[in-house]
Amino acid sequence: MPTLTDKTAVITGASRGIGKSIALHFAENGADIAIIYSSNENSANEVKTEAEKYGIKAKTYKCNVADFAEVKTVCDGIIQDFGKIDILVNNAGIIRDTLLLRMSEEDFDEVIDVNLKGAFNFIKQLSRPLMKSSCGRIINISSVSGLMGNPGQANYSAAKAGMLGMTKTIARELAGKKVTCNAIAPGFIETDMTASLPQAAKDFADRSIPLKRMGTPDEVANLAVFLASDMAAYITGEIIRIDGGLSM
Ligand code: NAP
Repeated sequence: MPTLTDKTAVITGASRGIGKSIALHFAENGADIAIIYSSNENSANEVKTEAEKYGIKAKTYKCNVADFAEVKTVCDGIIQDFGKIDILVNNAGIIRDTLLLRMSEEDFDEVIDVNLKGAFNFIKQLSRPLMKSSCGRIINISSVSGLMGNPGQANYSAAKAGMLGMTKTIARELAGKKVTCNAIAPGFIETDMTASLPQAAKDFADRSIPLKRMGTPDEVANLAVFLASDMAAYITGEIIRIDGGLSM
């Protein structure tokens, strides 16, 4: 049964991987969706076409989430196009993995700017419209790397841990307006991001995950649908791990 009927959702990084799956599950559950992408216009348009089959309204927006001014312009456009926002999913993310001794300043800054500042930029621009919703939801896609640390990811784990602190602060600040803010911390999920990992990292994943497999984008999307729905109205400031037991 659709659980997000009449809601409007903004999903960053929705052209591929986890974000695409969240966008399509939201659409299947009746939400109108704003699909944010960085460069893959064709993939974003394919998500829009697929989502529209569920009879909802979908639009694509090209936007570098790390660019504060660009995010403002795009968010103004989304408000104009949809009239309201109920759900924001900060999912856009990148990795620039390398050991600390080889990590450049650019590797560090770029990952922080996209993964952490990108989430801040969207929350900053959309918090007022979310406060006007009777059921505002912010869902930040973090990572178990932000909880456990991971060799080669000083930049990424810092960004993802930063998201967790920001999630709890935003949850406290917006609770009075009935906006919840939660984080999902996935482990290894089958997407382009993990496809690019070295074989040694994939072998480590196979050995270390108690459920002995990687997760799927659909499994993360199901959790996002629940957090976005009215069923999760009393959950805020929470970090929910979805990692096959990897970080327990
Ligand atoms: P992915 O397949 O590599 O997709 C990344 C998405 O982010 C794409 O839609 C991409 O858009 C978008 N994006 C990248 N940089 C952007 C920017 N500067 N501005 C706007 N959009 C941008 O990644 P994924 O595996 O689905 O990961 C999604 C999220 O889950 C990320 O935050 C990631 O850190 C997190 N996560 C993933 C895993 C995993 O195992 N896969 C585990 C834990 C956490 P384009 O298509 O236009 O490039």
